[in-house]
Amino acid sequence: MEKTVLIKTDNLTLCYGKHPALQTVSLDIREGGFYGVLGPNGSGKTTLINVMCGVLKPSAGRVFWQGRELRFYRRRHIARSFAVVPQDCSINFPFTVLEVVMMGRKPHLGRLGRLTDEDLGIVYSCMEHCGVLDYAEKAVTSLSGGERQRVILARALAQTPQVLFLDEATSNLDISHKIDLLKLIKRLNTRQGVTVIAALHDLNLAGMFCDYFIYMEKGQVACEGPGDLVFNEKVIKQIFNVQVEIDKHPVTGRYHLTLLPDSG
Ligand code: ADP
Ligand code: MG
Repeated sequence: MEKTVLIKTDNLTLCYGKHPALQTVSLDIREGGFYGVLGPNGSGKTTLINVMCGVLKPSAGRVFWQGRELRFYRRRHIARSFAVVPQDCSINFPFTVLEVVMMGRKPHLGRLGRLTDEDLGIVYSCMEHCGVLDYAEKAVTSLSGGERQRVILARALAQTPQVLFLDEATSNLDISHKIDLLKLIKRLNTRQGVTVIAALHDLNLAGMFCDYFIYMEKGQVACEGPGDLVFNEKVIKQIFNVQVEIDKHPVTGRYHLTLLPDSG
């Protein structure tokens, strides 16, 4: 049975000045999917994520959230449903890690804005999962880029969103933290049904974690579909102009990609 469409984009166009960064993008994001948004630099991945989560308003076309246009929802409602880990996230004020992760609960708090024991439980468990509990009282400004990125992810998870948007969210991390965090996100996806939309530039990581792929090229969707149809040598050659070999692991069903030396 097909899963419910959570987010629908209908002929989205977004221009920065005269330059169209997205053109006529129509997509259905279904509940529980793990979507990889792939494409070369400047192909519109960040712009697409920002329009889908309501940070940018489309120049033309519409975005729907659960059947109703996103622009009609209150910000608080959107913040309870979507969490975003942006590509560049700088926090310049020396908040402690605990304070930053607590901010993730804000859209859920009552009138007085007090955190309940349940809220605090969520905050501590997200810090633990993201490996930042030891830094709880440290200022975020004193952390390394990778540590800070894990704090931002912990804050996003503390929002207990229905949809988690990740924009190259693991790019500052070393390989083991990258894999740990993507595994954590995958668990949220498979066990709690959180829908994930991740722009990833590492094709191998995309193959390991995503089930559905959206390839962007010059602001348009060049190709989209489940891995078995579109995560293959031909499509990757067409989009990235690199020769690869892709195997599918017989047990895990995950893809593994090997870059081949240019055969000329
Ligand atoms: P990606 O995330 O795939 O690298 P982006 O969505 O960031 O792509 O950018 C798509 C296109 O829009 C690029 O040509 C980029 O130069 C342009 N662009 C992105 N952000 C802005 C901006 N704030 N102002 C003007 N042009 C922008
Ligand atoms: Mg980007």
